[in-house]
Amino acid sequence: MDDHVRHRRVVILGGGFAGLFAVRALRSAPVEVTVVDRCAHHLFQPLLYQCASGILSEGQIAQPLRAVLRRHPRVRCLMATAEDVDVTARVVHATRPDGGSLALPYDDLIVGVGVRQSYFGHDEFAPFAPGMKTLDDALAVRAKIYRAFEMAEASTDPAERAQWLTFALVGAGPTGVELAGQIREIAGRTLRREFAAVDPGLARVLLFDGSDAVLASFGPALSDRAARTLDDLGIEVHLRSVVTRVDDRGLTVRREDGGTERVEARTVLWTAGVEAPPLATALARATGAEQDRAGRIHVEPDLTIAGHPEIRVVGDLMVLDRLPGLAEVAMQSGAYAGRRIRHAVEGRTRTPRPFRYLDLGSAAYISRGRAVVKRGRFHASGLIGWLIWLFVHIVFLTGFRSRAGALLSWAVVFASGSRRERAFTTGAPHTTAVPFTPPSPPADPAVTPHEPPRPA
Ligand SMILES: Cc1cc2nc3c(=O)[nH]c(=O)nc-3n(C[C@H](O)[C@H](O)[C@H](O)COP(=O)(O)OP(=O)(O)OC[C@H]3O[C@@H](n4cnc5c(N)ncnc54)[C@H](O)[C@@H]3O)c2cc1C
Repeated sequence: MDDHVRHRRVVILGGGFAGLFAVRALRSAPVEVTVVDRCAHHLFQPLLYQCASGILSEGQIAQPLRAVLRRHPRVRCLMATAEDVDVTARVVHATRPDGGSLALPYDDLIVGVGVRQSYFGHDEFAPFAPGMKTLDDALAVRAKIYRAFEMAEASTDPAERAQWLTFALVGAGPTGVELAGQIREIAGRTLRREFAAVDPGLARVLLFDGSDAVLASFGPALSDRAARTLDDLGIEVHLRSVVTRVDDRGLTVRREDGGTERVEARTVLWTAGVEAPPLATALARATGAEQDRAGRIHVEPDLTIAGHPEIRVVGDLMVLDRLPGLAEVAMQSGAYAGRRIRHAVEGRTRTPRPFRYLDLGSAAYISRGRAVVKRGRFHASGLIGWLIWLFVHIVFLTGFRSRAGALLSWAVVFASGSRRERAFTTGAPHTTAVPFTPPSPPADPAVTPHEPPRPA
C-alpha cells in the first residue's frame, strides 16, 4: 500500500500560477510530480506590460521553472507542449521543443495551461497587432514602441511621421489601460529631450473598446475615475468602437452609429479578449467536458471534470461560478487541486469541501502614482491605490532577486522617468555568415595586403 502511494504519478500541465501552487500543495505528499510547460520559465503575467514598456527586464518577470521548483522533492520538470490526453490509458501526449513526442502516464492530472490572446475570429490581425500574453509578446511590443519613435525621427514626411507617433491600442481592460498609460509616460518623460527632429511628447495614444466603459470589471466609480485619469494623461479613449480591420498602417473602427473611421497608426497593440488553447478542445473531446464560448472548460465544484475524478482543471482555463481570470483565482484553485490529491493519498475519507475562492481584490496601474484597487466594497484610487498596487506586486513576485531588482527599477523610473530596459533586437541577422574568400596574392611582392600601395 505504502509503495503504491509513494509512486502515485501526478502530471501538472502548465507552470503558471495555478501549476506552481498545485506543486506547492503537494510538497509533503508521497507522490511523483511531473510539471510540463511549453516554456522553460514561469511568467509573472501581471507585469508583462512593464517589460514591454522597458521598466523591467525579461529576467525580472520570468524565472526559470527549474530554479523555482528546485527545492521541491520528487518534482520533474519537462519543457514540452501538451497536445492531447488519452483518458482511457491515462496518458498525456506532448511534443518536445525539437518536435519529438512524449507520452506521460498519470494517476492524477492537473490542467492549468491558461488562456491565450483572442482576436475574435480575426487571426489575420495578429501579425500587425501583437497581443500581451507571453514573454515574446512583451518583447515584440517593446520593439514596436521604441522602434516607432526611431522611425518618426528618421522620417522626413510629416504625414508618415505623424503615423509613427500614433499608437492605437485595442481593449480598455486592465492591460490596455496600463499599456496606454506607459506609452504616454514614455513619450512625455522617458524620451523627453532625446530626439532632435521630433517631439515624442506629441505622440498620440488612442484606446479603443467595443464596450461603454474602461476597466468595466472595476465597477462604475473606479471606471469613471480611470477614465478621468486617462483623459488627464492625454489618452484618447474611444468606447463603443469595434475594430473591424487592422493592417500595417493602422486600423478601421465601426462606431455605435454604424459609421466607420480609419485611423492611421503604425503601432497597433491588441489587448482585447482571451480564448482557450487547442489542448482544451482536445481535453473536452476526450472527456465530454462542456466548454464556454472562449473554449474554457466547465468544472465541478471540486474542480474535477464530470465523470473524471482524476482530472482537475485550474486557473484561467476553468469555468466555475463566473470566477474572473485573475492570478489569485489561479493560485487558490491550483493549491486546492494539489491539496485534494494530497488528502487522497493520505487516505482522508471525508467528502472534500467544494472549492471556495477568497476574493483578495484586483488592481490596475494607470500611471506613476495612480492606480485603482478594488476588493469587495473597498475601493481605492490615485496614490493610495498605487501604494497598494506596489505592495501587492512586491509580495507576489517570485524570488528574492526579481523582487529586489524590480524595486530598484521602479525607484529609477518613478524618480527620473528613465527606463533601463529599452533595448530591442531588430530581427535582422547582421552577422550572416559570408563565405571567406582569401585575398589574392599582391601583384607587387613589396606591397602587403595591409599597406596602401606606394606611389611609383
Ligand atoms: C498582461 C496581463 C496582465 C495581468 N494582470 C493581472 C493583475 O494585475 N492581477 C491579476 O490577478 N491577474 C492578472 N492577470 C491574469 C493572471 O496573470 C492570470 O489569471 C494567471 O496568470 C492565470 O494563471 P494560470 O496558471 O491559469 O495560467 P498562466 O499563468 O497563463 O500559465 C499557463 C502556463 O501553461 C503553459 N502552457 C500553455 N499551453 C501549454 C501546453 N499546451 N502545454 C504545456 N504548457 C502549456 C504556459 O506556457 C504557461 O506557463 C494578467 C494577465 C495578463 C496577460
